[in-house]
Amino acid sequence: MSQAKVPGKGFSTRAIHHGYDPYEGHGAVNPPLYLSSTFAFPTVEDGSARFAGEQAGFVYSRVGNPTTCLLESRIADLEGGEAALVTASGMGATTSLMWTLLSPGDEVIADKTLYGCTFGYFNHGLAKFGVKITHVDMTQPANLEAAIGAQTKVVFFESPANPNMRLVDIAAIAAIAHRHGAKVVVDNTYCTPYLQRPLALGADYVVHSATKYLGGHGDLIAGAIVGPKESLDQVRFYGIKDMTGAVMSSQDAFLVLRGLKTLALRMARHSSNAQAIAECLAGHDKVDVCHYPGLDTFPQRELARRQMKLPGGMVAFELKGGIEAGRRFMNALQLITRAVSLGDAESLAQHPASMTHSFYTPEERRAHLIGEGLVRISAGLEDPEDLLDDVRQALDTA
Ligand SMILES: *Cc1c(COP(=O)(O)O)cnc(C)c1O
Repeated sequence: MSQAKVPGKGFSTRAIHHGYDPYEGHGAVNPPLYLSSTFAFPTVEDGSARFAGEQAGFVYSRVGNPTTCLLESRIADLEGGEAALVTASGMGATTSLMWTLLSPGDEVIADKTLYGCTFGYFNHGLAKFGVKITHVDMTQPANLEAAIGAQTKVVFFESPANPNMRLVDIAAIAAIAHRHGAKVVVDNTYCTPYLQRPLALGADYVVHSATKYLGGHGDLIAGAIVGPKESLDQVRFYGIKDMTGAVMSSQDAFLVLRGLKTLALRMARHSSNAQAIAECLAGHDKVDVCHYPGLDTFPQRELARRQMKLPGGMVAFELKGGIEAGRRFMNALQLITRAVSLGDAESLAQHPASMTHSFYTPEERRAHLIGEGLVRISAGLEDPEDLLDDVRQALDTA
């Protein structure tokens, strides 16, 4: 990988140029895609030195490839981290990191609200191998202080949390965790480094589903971990190489590199579209409450201003009519697509009680703060007037 110096410090300049010098690659302005599973050693001694980590150079694409390596250096730079590791999926990022950091007898303290599969991995995966999982409401840092102990190795949360948009004060949580010797992992999928940089606020690791905004076009599944180089080397040479094998293909890395070039532009548009949708919902008489960090009625508005550059592209709201109203609203949508996932150019809507959180019992949904009439919208990049027309007509039906 090139150590090319980029003449500029701005976010988009780095998202477009960091780590690549076209004059080192036949002058190709766009970074090349290396489709090779294995790499030749000039001599057997070079091969040995590369295996021993004494010589730079690639060996085999499960542990490194020039295209994924460029993406890693770019994501690390944008998140302000020492190193990054890209993975086959967001779940591959979280699982590879956790299998590396944890041993039986350790405890993970996680927020009450988590992406559904992260919840499943913690409670049905890690827990089966002797890791204790404790959920606390981290919107109140005092709850972490009360729960944390000598066994707590990892504190894990999302902010905003998926799907209900609760925010966690990253700096306050990191201060408590570090006083007790625990590492802080933040899932930054909703914000991307353009809106929020958890490492600068004290987090130790950031994980991403690059499937979402980083890729940005709904055409791949990918993930990333950002953190200290030494620790990520362990994740690479143990967590991924031996445990999960959750390797990102270089073709996907190429597409994520392309997505990153427009990340700042897209996030601004996602955010302004979400703001318009949230304002439309907030005033409507069929809507009980709209959760969006850009609304003045948002209870954590002050924290949102402090921690996030923009309120982001995700909106959640509760319909007064509960689960049936949620279903009617969803079925009435004409432009906004009924689909899970988020961060695509297309606006997407999902109803957690019938979809992502349908395998929870109603009691579990209540305990994890997922309302029955909660609808989540990922504001896409379409024209705001068209999105508002669709939301209004679906509300009429709900
Ligand atoms: C989608 C998502 C994940 C999981 O990522 P995949 O790429 O689907 O494996 C994790 N966290 C959040 C917040 C997500 O939205």
